[in-house]
Amino acid sequence: MLSDYLTECWNWAAGRTELLKGAVLVVEKIPAVTYCEECDSTYGTVEHGKICPYCGSGHTYLLQGNETNIKEIEACG
Ligand SMILES: [Zn+2]
Repeated sequence: MLSDYLTECWNWAAGRTELLKGAVLVVEKIPAVTYCEECDSTYGTVEHGKICPYCGSGHTYLLQGNETNIKEIEACG
């Protein structure tokens, strides 16, 4: 996961910088959702891919997801 990698990098950097000590990186994961035009339903892209699990149609497109947003950086203390 990209976010795991980011967190790892962050922890590495934070441990070496006095200013960032105790800071926590908050990563928001957005689940990928696909919409089916044939039966007007949505489903998890990760689980089912491009084929609709309800009607078997390939007329689908990605609504949202496959993104990793760095939501905020919290300084503790
Ligand atoms: Zn469908």
